[in-house]
Amino acid sequence: MTTRSAKIEITELHWMMDMLQSIDVGLIVLDGDYHVQVWNSFMANHSGVPAKDIIGKKLFEIFADISEEWFKRKAESVVLLNCRSFTTWEQRPYLIKFKNYRPITGPAEFMYQNVTFIPLTSVDGTVNHIGIIIYDVTDSAINGGELEKANSTLQELSRTDHLTKLHNRGYWEARLQEEFLRSKRTGQPCSLILFDIDYFKNVNDAYGHQAGDEVIRLTADQVRKKVRATDIPGRYGGEEFGIILIDTSADSARYLAERLRKAIETMSIEYEGCEICCTISLGVAELSDRIEDYRDWLACADQALYRAKKSGRNRVVAHEDAD
Ligand code: GH3
Ligand code: MG
Ligand code: MG
Repeated sequence: MTTRSAKIEITELHWMMDMLQSIDVGLIVLDGDYHVQVWNSFMANHSGVPAKDIIGKKLFEIFADISEEWFKRKAESVVLLNCRSFTTWEQRPYLIKFKNYRPITGPAEFMYQNVTFIPLTSVDGTVNHIGIIIYDVTDSAINGGELEKANSTLQELSRTDHLTKLHNRGYWEARLQEEFLRSKRTGQPCSLILFDIDYFKNVNDAYGHQAGDEVIRLTADQVRKKVRATDIPGRYGGEEFGIILIDTSADSARYLAERLRKAIETMSIEYEGCEICCTISLGVAELSDRIEDYRDWLACADQALYRAKKSGRNRVVAHEDAD
């Protein structure tokens, strides 16, 4: 090698070292006994340990909270197989905890890290050093977490009826199907109430749609007050509601339906100086062997409700009464 080309190589090496120092990822090189050989500025700045205090020392001496057993297993397999290895923040949030990381600007209290372990080959072809690259993935980890939160809020929203805060029809029907299958499997009784506000068009016509909304909202409040914790109420349609009553026979369901009917009958709603009263009609259907799917079950309750309407409204009719 000429002196000139040796000079060029040293210059290039110098540039390379400059780049390694200023690059925005953490770089560590360890020898076979885990002594630190390279510790770039990223590592020094974020860990608060300058290169001069760690070079030549064992990584675990300085960072005692790294699991030595886990780390050695990882490093040994990288050396043995001469093959890269990764860990992501989902598996292990960080290799080295950088404390007080962006305490003001970011929601994370430490830096989430993806880590790559690289076998470093000597000129003779043997692997006796490993390189570690630490990537700061805090932003995507946090945004991912917030996305999950936003998704679960959305999921929650999509199962809730906006006006009444009861389950909406889609979710309530899914629960009905679930309870249908459960009851068929366990043989436990299960009943269904469908009810509809009587002459509700008149409420809208006489007091306006907003007043109608208020009646629907307060009817839902009465449902919430009267049902038990295990019952599953939902808004089935405009002024139609459904209640699934787990472990409940038709007689007990009819009893609850009657209590609800009375509660609505005696409820007086003040709306912009007017007093609004209304009643409901209810159909009850207990699940039986003859009912083959949840839609049949709904149809039975609906037939009973239809009978309640036809026979004068403001009353409860159970499906067996309709046979
Ligand atoms: P019935 O005793 O036979 O049930 O008589 P009804 O007047 O209640 O008849 P029906 O159930 O057919 O009418 C329901 C009305 O409810 C029609 C619709 O304009 C109104 N409605 C549906 N959804 C809403 C809502 O979210 N808010 C308001 N204010 N009205 C609604
Ligand atoms: Mg209706
Ligand atoms: Mg109605």
